[in-house]
Amino acid sequence: MKRDYAVIGLGRFGGSICKELSQEGMQVLAIDADQDKINEFKNIASYAVIADSTDEATLKELGIKNIDHVIVAIGDNIQASILTTVVLTDLGIKKITVKAQNDYHEKILNRIGANQVVHPERDMGKRIAHNIISNNILDYLELSDDYSIVEVKAGKKMHGKTLVELDIRANYGCNVVAIKRDKDINVSPAADELLKEDDVLIVIGADKDLSRFEKHLV
Ligand code: ATP
Ligand code: ATP
Ligand code: CA
Repeated sequence: MKRDYAVIGLGRFGGSICKELSQEGMQVLAIDADQDKINEFKNIASYAVIADSTDEATLKELGIKNIDHVIVAIGDNIQASILTTVVLTDLGIKKITVKAQNDYHEKILNRIGANQVVHPERDMGKRIAHNIISNNILDYLELSDDYSIVEVKAGKKMHGKTLVELDIRANYGCNVVAIKRDKDINVSPAADELLKEDDVLIVIGADKDLSRFEKHLV
């Protein structure tokens, strides 16, 4: 049987990935060392099996080699997460996504060959912090240590003004890459585009510039 994904570790994070993939019609092999978790997921995933993922022979028996993308969502047991990732790399899995518990864990995972390392608690915390600073900052995506993309709702300060009048690029060094208005999205806004309150602007820039932009205009 062809399976699209395997999810190892069915805690809140891995469990939610498993549910969502299954709901989207994907074939998911769910693996956890805990019987209760497997019982919980046997009607959700296409196949749910009790196994210790640090054991190479077991993973081989499960046919993990036929799966292109494996998600490792073992949290607290960092050792098990690292060992599992090493085993998957040795088996030549094409794409390995791993959840990191802290920055050291992330560093190790990158070094031992994880293709994608995610850090959901840290990233979600950052996003929510930006949203708390201003209710008009809807979302935040980190591009690198120094650059980000923010999604902001235009308030009264921007209403009735054009991008030229606000002179966002010259004043703040940021670029408005798109404007969402109701269901429409304009991906190359003209300089004389008139902004309205409640328009959603997608803005890219250096963190220090975005921060000034947010303080003054949002
Ligand atoms: P959450 O996403 O809820 O925060 P967590 O990050 O705290 O979860 P844990 O609860 O520590 O993660 O682990 C997630 C799951 O991984 C657990 O259900 C646990 O049984 C499973 N797990 C831990 N070690 C192994 C292993 N070696 N093999 C298979 N499953 C494992
Ligand atoms: P994570 O986001 O890392 O998954 P978590 O949701 O598993 O965290 P815990 O580690 O259980 O949460 O708790 C988070 C923090 O909250 C801990 O540092 C703990 O010391 C603190 N904490 C727990 N209870 C209280 C309390 N009653 N008052 C103040 N701080 C508390
Ligand atoms: Ca946790």
